[in-house]
Amino acid sequence: MERKFIDLHSHSTVSDGSESPTTVVRTAAVDKNLKALALSDHDTVEGLDEAYAEAEKHEGFELIPAIEISAEYGDGTIHILGYFLDRHSPELLAKLKVLQDAREERNPQIIAKLNELGMEITEEEVAEIAGKGVIGRPHIARALINRGHVKNTEEAFDKYLAKNGPAYINKERFSQADSIKMIHDAGGVAVLAHPKYVHGGDLKGVEELIASMAEQGLDGLEVFYSSHNKKEVKWFKELADKYGLIATGGSDFHGVTKPDIEIGTGMGNLKVSYEEIIPKLREKAKSYQ
Ligand SMILES: [Zn+2]
Ligand SMILES: [Zn+2]
Repeated sequence: MERKFIDLHSHSTVSDGSESPTTVVRTAAVDKNLKALALSDHDTVEGLDEAYAEAEKHEGFELIPAIEISAEYGDGTIHILGYFLDRHSPELLAKLKVLQDAREERNPQIIAKLNELGMEITEEEVAEIAGKGVIGRPHIARALINRGHVKNTEEAFDKYLAKNGPAYINKERFSQADSIKMIHDAGGVAVLAHPKYVHGGDLKGVEELIASMAEQGLDGLEVFYSSHNKKEVKWFKELADKYGLIATGGSDFHGVTKPDIEIGTGMGNLKVSYEEIIPKLREKAKSYQ
């Protein structure tokens, strides 16, 4: 069967996904018969070497080097995807190291707060849960579940870990403009991820954000996304056209952390076309290389 569809948003154990880069790529290439997959781990490109090694084994399949960067947005965060960037760029790696160091300082602070609140979890058990990945709040949530302090990840975030929660610690991140520039300087294109979730679903606020990011050099908008309904897809497609952005799409696969999302097909109705997207992205990326 001819490969036609793609997934431009997926996570592995290198950040907060539950499957290794090898498994994510193999699932995309074999089980899902995709033509291309972007492995877009949070603030790291460390999974890409392993992903390439697996991708090479599958004829007609393409791995797109990617990343999902957390950028400032008011006192919150937005996610910016980068595609076709040079994963060996020393400038890129130096900036990612800053984010990673900050994240490493943040986790012990969150754990200390939880300890103060009477929940006994340790840095060691959280590190064990994260394995080789970048430790993040989902791993802390799992430690709370294992200890019986909460029933599931949702409860862990609602009660303690979410923004303004009693164990929330603010994150170090770059501005939107710096994040976009970081991607461009590494030869990649910058795409705003899951616009549905920025600005709490307030569509007017989203448009203002998209307009200002387009001025800062944003190249694309993640129009097709697992939880975007038909109306939202239509709306975001119109915004992409209005601001001259490439409409991209992906599932945001995380494995068991988000069990209802599958690679390529999302929650069942995702279909992202190679032909309509990849040539445009590649051409745009060339303008930064
Ligand atoms: Zn995201
Ligand atoms: Zn993501």
